[in-house]
Amino acid sequence: MNLLALPAFADNYIWMLHDGARAVVVDPGDAAPVEAALDRLQLSLAGILVTHHHGDHVGGVDALRPRLQGLVHGPAKERIPEPFTPHAEGDVVDILGLRFKVLDVPGHTAGHVAYAQMDEPTAPLLFCGDTLFSGGCGRLFEGTPAQMHASLAKFAALPVDTRVCCTHEYTLSNLRFAAAVEPGNADIAAYTQRCQATREAGRPTLPSSIALELTINPFLRCTQPAVVQMARNKGAVSDDAVAVLAALREWKNQF
Ligand SMILES: [Zn+2]
Ligand SMILES: [Zn+2]
Repeated sequence: MNLLALPAFADNYIWMLHDGARAVVVDPGDAAPVEAALDRLQLSLAGILVTHHHGDHVGGVDALRPRLQGLVHGPAKERIPEPFTPHAEGDVVDILGLRFKVLDVPGHTAGHVAYAQMDEPTAPLLFCGDTLFSGGCGRLFEGTPAQMHASLAKFAALPVDTRVCCTHEYTLSNLRFAAAVEPGNADIAAYTQRCQATREAGRPTLPSSIALELTINPFLRCTQPAVVQMARNKGAVSDDAVAVLAALREWKNQF
């Protein structure tokens, strides 16, 4: 199974998984990069996975329907282009012979879902939309810090070798913030250097991994003493992980 990050707009990736004949794409905000990849690789489109309703994630869905030989799968609690098969926590989506577990991960939007693929013989995969980014998390447009904390905790509990496929190339700007939260974290400094070289070479910094995010992402490190202390300095009302996440998210919005 091949995994591609198709660049779209200024900083989106449309993830494509294909077996050499059939492909599935995640959050096609624009149809053009998907059509170009299908043509170039001579693939059929076997399915579309959608994580949430924002236009940069669903804008290309209708334009892709004429060549779609399968279903559009999306969040049960959100409005996305009809028709689609609605999914919520506990559902399993079968595409390309793979089983994707659906996770409810509210916070960025109220009905955001993620798709976790755990039974591929190689490394597991997570399509997390705009909930988790490398080094950061999505803005809380429709959800609460408590919801985002619970959603990120579901990701943190996945196998550490899970490949994390986020929708945006925000890594370097997130790492500037992560370094401000934890100036003493050498893993953040080392990862920043690696990502700078990757971007200079014109390559995506993604996918990341759960193991990596647990060492560098402040929003997954809300119980680490250095993170708690910095969050308290920035106005966190207690040492509680949700209060820490709320303060970090607020600070990041102004950063
Ligand atoms: Zn979004
Ligand atoms: Zn987005």
